[in-house]
Amino acid sequence: MAEKVYFLSWSKKDKLYDFLKATRIFNHVKARNFLAIKIHFGEEGNKGYIKPEYVSSVVKIAKEKTAFPFLTDASTIYVGRRSDAYHHHLIANKHGFTIEKCGCPVIIADGLRGDVESEVKVNLKHFKTVMIAQGIYSADSFIFMSHFKGHEITGFGGALKNIGMGCGSKAGKYAMHHSSKPTVNPHCCMGCGECVKHCYQKALFLVDKKIVMNEKKCAGCGQCLVSCAFEVFSLKWNESSLSVQEKIVEYAVGVLKNKKGSYINFLNHISKYCDCFSLSRNNPLMEDIGIVASVDPVAADQASYDLVNKIFGKDLFKELYPKIDSTIQLEYAESLGLGNRNYKLISY
Ligand code: SF4
Ligand code: SF4
Repeated sequence: MAEKVYFLSWSKKDKLYDFLKATRIFNHVKARNFLAIKIHFGEEGNKGYIKPEYVSSVVKIAKEKTAFPFLTDASTIYVGRRSDAYHHHLIANKHGFTIEKCGCPVIIADGLRGDVESEVKVNLKHFKTVMIAQGIYSADSFIFMSHFKGHEITGFGGALKNIGMGCGSKAGKYAMHHSSKPTVNPHCCMGCGECVKHCYQKALFLVDKKIVMNEKKCAGCGQCLVSCAFEVFSLKWNESSLSVQEKIVEYAVGVLKNKKGSYINFLNHISKYCDCFSLSRNNPLMEDIGIVASVDPVAADQASYDLVNKIFGKDLFKELYPKIDSTIQLEYAESLGLGNRNYKLISY
């Protein structure tokens, strides 16, 4: 059966509150629920992120249901303004995600340094368990607000990427980005022992104040990369798009395990790169389209993908990334039961 996907054109964006109320996609939000509204606050200089005025409509509906909404994201593995909770809060505040504007607090979900996480069993092709930012894992239910745009590794990024990659802790993000185990340069090691404390696999130990790795024990989780301040560990950034897309979907399975969510994709400022890049590299490539909403993340992303390509006149993402098949994420997500690629678009 086709899944319902609701559509509000960009020219009617001021009607977002009425639109969302009419869709009834918030039926899963219950009284006194801790409701995680997962969003990307935008890297320094980026202009594509979803603006706070749209968040306030979502928060208003959540509060009418007497839920406890909070805005959230997890730390990045690249070095920037979102790679720890302290600087992440500052950039969120600078971009207007304040209690005064949005009506609820910002809680960075994986702690000060991106290592507060929960392990969730999934038993899938790439992962047996996934590492989810603890604040997201502990939430009762979700709303994912996702900016739909191009992406340098996955072709496009929408709801699935916001769920899977966005909710992984730092170790989770490393695991999705890399299948290889870190290489070690012991010459840079200061012998502080910090990484040894963070290695769940007990694959690291010090010999004469220099780090040694037992490769057989290493699970490639990436915790040592996060915990070492001296660049002793490094990884190959050569994971294929196919593998990364599948891993993101497996993480999404972990995030949504036994939980319900709804999915709101913003099809505006559609750029080549994700919101981790600044404006100079990331101008919009076409007109703003609108907002889609659904209780199905696969249907929301499929409808967004189709709307962009219909209005662009050809496959925008294939034009941007000819070597990437960005539909792998949709196909794999559907095969794992995350949702339905078959949808019915209902315009408001
Ligand atoms: S990648 Fe993980 S398991 Fe391997 S050495 Fe680093 S912390 Fe330990
Ligand atoms: S955290 Fe870095 S410097 Fe400290 S022991 Fe581990 S490898 Fe050496």
